[in-house]
Order: sequence, then structure tokens, then C-alpha cells
Amino acid sequence: MLNKTQVVIAGAGPVGCVSALILARAGISVCVLEAEADLIPELRASTFHPPTLDMLDKLGITPKLIEQGLITPKLQYRDLEEGLIAEFDHSIIRDHTDHPYRLQCEQFKLTRVVEDLLEEYSNAEILYSSKFVSASQTDDKVVISYDTSTGRNNIECDYLIGTDGSRSAVRKSQDIEFKGFTYPEQFVTVSVPEEIDSIVTNMGHVSYISHPTEWCALIHAPDYWRFLFPIEMEMSKEEAFKDEFIQKRLQKIAPYKGKYTIQLRTLYGVNQRVAESYRLGRILLAGDSAHVNNPLGGMGMNGGIHDGVNLSEKLIAIYNNGGSEDLLDLYDRQRRPIAIEYVQAQTIRNKKNLEERDPNIRKQRQDELRAMTDNLEKSRDMLLQSSMINSLERSANIQ
Ligand SMILES: Cc1cc2nc3c(=O)[nH]c(=O)nc-3n(C[C@H](O)[C@H](O)[C@H](O)COP(=O)(O)OP(=O)(O)OC[C@H]3O[C@@H](n4cnc5c(N)ncnc54)[C@H](O)[C@@H]3O)c2cc1C
Repeated sequence: MLNKTQVVIAGAGPVGCVSALILARAGISVCVLEAEADLIPELRASTFHPPTLDMLDKLGITPKLIEQGLITPKLQYRDLEEGLIAEFDHSIIRDHTDHPYRLQCEQFKLTRVVEDLLEEYSNAEILYSSKFVSASQTDDKVVISYDTSTGRNNIECDYLIGTDGSRSAVRKSQDIEFKGFTYPEQFVTVSVPEEIDSIVTNMGHVSYISHPTEWCALIHAPDYWRFLFPIEMEMSKEEAFKDEFIQKRLQKIAPYKGKYTIQLRTLYGVNQRVAESYRLGRILLAGDSAHVNNPLGGMGMNGGIHDGVNLSEKLIAIYNNGGSEDLLDLYDRQRRPIAIEYVQAQTIRNKKNLEERDPNIRKQRQDELRAMTDNLEKSRDMLLQSSMINSLERSANIQ
């Protein structure tokens, strides 16, 4: 069986889904291959940054996320021993965005919203249980093989976008290197229904809590609070998931009279990597298949959506406005440096700040944060950076 479409997207995660919707709305035929039998109900990303909400608003998505999410204007920096160090309110960047807050909303809600919206477009389809296997390209087309429950199929297209996550089969099939490093520790996430802001006075709904070994990122999502903290690489999953170990860790962060109700535990190895190229002829990478980073700062999915929007706009310019294929190189030039110089640099710095062992450097950082809260311009600069607005301005200025 040989089918034809203009664009094939491998992977129906947040980046693949959003890209498919943008292309479908522009009248481009698009087929999304998803390996799983349904959209993945993973919690993973929960933070949507202001410019991402601005982009998704143009697609009619943001109001549907707001309905299911939690608007979070404030961002806190704390220390496990010192308590609250500084708090920043996104309302001071309202001149730069229509959504001056973080929205806490799980990524699976986004993919479900997009799946519903895609139903309106006869030029778009998501094929489930369809696992990308390989792709070969000539000057004018790409031929893709994918596996289904009934055997192997082929599909022909003009362009293939790999949005199939960090272990991307698309990236591997093209021998594109994924350079970077793996952190020497693992990250645990634990979700609990207890209201942490009534357990710890003034606890913010997004708090980064520093400590040399027991730092934590605490996020209030609509139905639970999620703790993310590191454990040693040598620790087994069994040990890390033991109630006693988790209770002790949570009690240190948010001392509580009762026992926490642990609803969900996950364990991750964390990498910082960027693909050597985002374009190889007619094959393109976006999202986690192109770059991965630690979750401190909530930049992986957001940056991936920014890739998807940028790339889809380039494809629309090529199909609908006679644009040159050189635009696809511009996509690589605009987005790859952002992943390296901005997202990688910022997330590495975020982790370093949280785990700083030198008491003098730690104190200096805390003093800087406290001083920043008294300086509107510096606070604004900080939020423009952390909310990724700066990264998009820089990207737009690259020609
Ligand atoms: C604990 C944690 C918290 C995080 N928090 C945030 C946050 O708050 N904000 C943020 O921006 N980011 C966050 N991230 C990162 C975020 O989850 C990822 O960056 C995001 O999921 C990337 O989206 P994607 O669409 O590129 O890839 P994925 O979400 O990985 O989706 C890839 C899709 O491709 C499919 N697939 C895989 N292989 C194939 C194949 N061969 N053929 C077809 N389909 C295939 C998969 O089934 C999946 O549906 C977090 C990550 C973790 C681990």
C-alpha cells in the first residue's frame, strides 16, 4: 500500500500535534504517525509559558487549556533552610504578552484538545499504532515505512517532520548526532493532593527550592502538587519509590503533621543534548527529537512548540506563498542556536543554582535575587528570560 500526502509528522506528542494543526489550517495535507494506540496520557510537562499561550491562542487552543489549567502569575525562589528568598509576578511583563502568567496544565490535555480540533480538517489525520521505521529521500520526495498491527506500510510525502521524542527513530534513521551529556543523578517526581500552600505559609504555586543535595522544584498543577527532586544514580527504582523514603523527603521540603498521600511516582534519567542539524534535505526535526534538557524552568515542551510553529510557518510560506526551500535552512538557523545558547544554557544554570554547594556563592545568588525584587527593570528582564520571550525575539532576528 502506498499512500501520498504533503507532510508526514512522526509522533503525536505536543509538538507533532500543534504542527499538524497549523499545517491543516493552511490547507496542507498532513498525516501524523503515532506509535501508540492512543495519545499518551503522560503528565510530564505542566508549565505553559506566556509566549506559548500567545501562539496557541491563535489556534483557538489557549482558552481550552485555561479551562483545564491553573493560572499561576507568581514564581518563587526559596531555599530549603532559609525559606522564601524572592517572588516575581508575571504581571510586570504584560506589555510583552497577552498572557502574563504561567499556565499549569498537563501536556496530555494539549494533545487531546488538538486531536479534537483536527477532526474538523479532512486534510489531516492521525494514524495510531503506526510506528515510523525508516525514510529514504530523493530530490523531490520522501518515502516512509511504518509498522502497524497488520504489517508494514509505506507513505510518500514532500516533507517529513520528526517529532517522535528524545529517542527519535527519525533522527537515528538519518544518522544525525545528538551531542551532549547525561546528568550523574536521576530525577524523581511525586504527586500529592495535599494543599502545600496551606501546609507551608506563603508557598508559591511554582517554587524552585535550593539545597546542595535535596533541592526541589514544586509545581501546583490543577489536581495535585508535584515535587521533583534528585536522587543518586546508584539508587534503584524500588528504593526510590519506597513510601518511607519519599515521605521523609517531602517532610523536609514541606513539614506536615500527617502522612502525604502519594498518588504518582516517576523516575527519569536526564540529558542535555541537541541534534547536530535540524534539517537533512526534506527531513526535519522538532521538539525533543531535536533537543532535550532538564525540566527546571519548563522549557522542553515550550521550546518544542516554538520549533513547531516556526517550521510550520516556513512550510506554509513554501506551499502557499511560493517561498524557497532555503526557508528550511533558516528554520535550522533560527531554532538550533536557541536550543544551545538559550534553553541548554538556562536549564543547566537553573540546576546549578539550585544545587550550589559553596555557601558563599549560594548566599551571593540569594542576595542577587532579593535585590532583583526591588528593581522593576531587573525583575522584568529576569521574567522575559525565564518565560522564553527573549529567546523568541532573538530567534526572530536571525536571518
Ligand atoms: C518530569 C518532567 C517535567 C517536564 N515539565 C515540563 C514543563 O513544565 N514544561 C516544558 O516545556 N517541558 C517540560 N518537560 C519536557 C516535555 O515533557 C517534553 O519536552 C515534551 O514532551 C516534548 O514534546 P514532543 O512532542 O517533542 O515529544 P514527546 O512528548 O516525547 O512525544 C513524542 C511522541 O512520538 C511518539 N513516537 C515515538 N517514537 C515513535 C515512532 N517511531 N513512530 C511514531 N511515533 C513515535 C510517542 O509515542 C509520542 O507520542 C518535562 C519533562 C519531564 C520528564
